[in-house]
Amino acid sequence: TRLFDALDDQPLDAMLTLLRQLRSDPRDGKIDLGIGVYGDEKGRTPVMQAVRQAERIVAEAQTTKAYVAAEGDARFVSLLAPIVLGAARAADDRYCGMQTPGGTGALRLAAELIARANPDARIWVGTPSWVNHYGLMRSAGLTVLEHPFFDQATQTILFDEMMSALETARTGDVLLLHACCHNPTGAGFTTDQWRAIADLCARKGLLPLVDIAYQGLGHGLEEDAANMRALLDIVPEALITASCSKNFGLYRERLGALWIRGSHAQAALRARATCMKVGRSMWSMPPDHGASVVRTILESPELTASWQAELTTMRARLNAMRAELARAVPQLASVAQQTGMFALLPLSREAVTELRVRDGIYMIENGRMNIAGLTSENLPRFAAALAPSLS
Ligand code: PMP
Repeated sequence: TRLFDALDDQPLDAMLTLLRQLRSDPRDGKIDLGIGVYGDEKGRTPVMQAVRQAERIVAEAQTTKAYVAAEGDARFVSLLAPIVLGAARAADDRYCGMQTPGGTGALRLAAELIARANPDARIWVGTPSWVNHYGLMRSAGLTVLEHPFFDQATQTILFDEMMSALETARTGDVLLLHACCHNPTGAGFTTDQWRAIADLCARKGLLPLVDIAYQGLGHGLEEDAANMRALLDIVPEALITASCSKNFGLYRERLGALWIRGSHAQAALRARATCMKVGRSMWSMPPDHGASVVRTILESPELTASWQAELTTMRARLNAMRAELARAVPQLASVAQQTGMFALLPLSREAVTELRVRDGIYMIENGRMNIAGLTSENLPRFAAALAPSLS
């Protein structure tokens, strides 16, 4: 037998299957609420204005394609740090950052770092979470433990259940948190709940790993980071994984960053050196284009203003669609309180299939919808198709 004959068949990725079905659906007026990419009111995912301009500047100014560094573009990292961490933490030498290939690269590095620091580490992930979180953590050898997070039927956060599950956590365990705009539920903790989580982490010696992939798409750049920053001021150590895929619209360019918050500067530096070594053996150097673009934007007050204005427009559109959906479908009132690109609708798998087959409405089988797939034009039809499936 041949080597590759020994491999198992892999079930086709649910998202890719959905995409294929969508593309081969000949009906007019299909509604794509599947893949997690921002769409404007015309259903397009345009290159942001500031990105376009920065790309022109980069194309003109770049004189070489020689490697940058294993930590990526240090200037990009230091310009992004105050946006993510706030100015005070960005200037604190207990925080050490590096560029990564997307938020995914940051998460994988964070997981590898944890596994090296503590081979017995376990990571707690709230149910449900972004599907890739589980595979990413397991790939690095971490044991994934799930704790209750969200009840789909009642659209509520199961905070008490979560906190009692976490009482059984061991010192050295890791707690994965979404800083804002939770994927897939859109649900977020209150500031008091964040405080209680931070206190629990400090008391039990849990390491928070905060994933911030949608900063600016909930309530605002500062607002979306505020609870995470407050937590960072309470715990002695933490990991922060950021993505520029959504808020800069740079998806395919693969841009993200990882910050390590150590109990002292030396520890943070050592942890970053470990991450750089791991990165060297996975991708050697992160791709530069996205980092050059974001650096160019953040070095220019005009481009920064343009980026922020466009991000504000995107956020306003998401929130307007949330409000409109909640108004059109009273059972989904909670959608207006939630934030970001996603909602996890209280739909059965059968109902999701029926929406696809009968109405040409595409969403993930668990009921996750991309809010950014809605437009003022398609929303009434979506609401009408949805109503009979909701009790
Ligand atoms: N975290 C979460 C919660 C996400 O939803 C995503 C993207 N879907 C990421 C991280 C990483 O995104 P990327 O690797 O494209 O930057």
